[in-house]
Amino acid sequence: MTPLAAEIRRLIALEGPIPVDQYMRLCLGHPQHGYYITRDPFGVRGDFTTAPEISQMFGELIGAWAAALWEQMGAPHALHLLELGPGRGTLMADALRATRGVAALRAALSVHLVETSPILRAHQQKMLADAGVPVSWHGAVEDVPAGPAIAIANEFVDALAISQFVKDRDGWHPRMIGLQDDRLAFVVAPDPLPRLALVDAPAGALIELRQDQPIGALAQRVAGHGGAVLVIDYGHTQSGFGDTLQAVRQHKFADPLADPGEADLTAQVDFAALAQTARRNGARVHGPITQGAFLRRLGIAERVARLQQSATPQQAADIAAALTRLTAPDQMGGLFKVLAIAHPDLEAPPGFDS
Ligand code: SAH
Repeated sequence: MTPLAAEIRRLIALEGPIPVDQYMRLCLGHPQHGYYITRDPFGVRGDFTTAPEISQMFGELIGAWAAALWEQMGAPHALHLLELGPGRGTLMADALRATRGVAALRAALSVHLVETSPILRAHQQKMLADAGVPVSWHGAVEDVPAGPAIAIANEFVDALAISQFVKDRDGWHPRMIGLQDDRLAFVVAPDPLPRLALVDAPAGALIELRQDQPIGALAQRVAGHGGAVLVIDYGHTQSGFGDTLQAVRQHKFADPLADPGEADLTAQVDFAALAQTARRNGARVHGPITQGAFLRRLGIAERVARLQQSATPQQAADIAAALTRLTAPDQMGGLFKVLAIAHPDLEAPPGFDS
């Protein structure tokens, strides 16, 4: 049994079942045993691979996107470049390299990384040691100083905790994790929640609500001070019903209740709900569009051609494979969506304008 499983079982024995969002927060962020607190989960030997780890092209294109957006904003003399959950720091390193030629932007830039994992912070520090621009770390969006900002969140929102509710004849009941036959099991709270009384669905339906407060805070920031937030994640464009909580370990799906703290735990992003959060905070929303469309509009095909010119046959094949993984409709290109949350007066950011 994992140390976190033992702790969660004690908690449930003492206080009764815990809601799904609390379980998710404990699994990912428990101060000693949380998944992201104890390890670097990325890569072939890790649990999963993200777009910036597949190819440098991903971060480079986002760097070029940010540079174009900064010009669109009127080239402010100070710009905060934020990243939420930067992982190994690969995306930011690639993005900054792509801005090297734009001296005025480099002079304006300060980088702010919002990261809770000490292990990943150390990785990011190493990766960005030669960044050539000031880099600082924060525990939450609210701690980043005010001012015009461009923010990136790749595979960050899927790790924000969700609550789940199950429809019964008398209303929506919170889904919880309890103990059954001495094992962790999903259970349903006996009392329905009054505030969800109005959502109509057949009995047995399941609804997920995410605590997307960090994105709300960023939306408010860019609506007030200028700039935009780029959210890239796997998910759906329309709100719907159904359980999307998933655990991934060593590149395979796992039982979300099997080894708490040892598997990555995420849920699909509801982009319609996220857009609503952004609008409620005064921002304007562009997209969502698929990751494949976004990268093609930013010129990934041209970048592939340029990289392949000076590559060995093996490298050229690797670049082609990365292009497919990032853009094919039946792979990340279709599963992942891209949403821009911007100041209401800003014209559509690059990639969202057609
Ligand atoms: N963006 C990276 C990593 C994605 S994994 C990439 O694409 O490779 C999720 C990242 O979010 C990790 O860096 C994790 O430590 C961080 N994270 C998870 N929950 C967080 C929270 N509540 N606040 C800040 N960072 C968080």
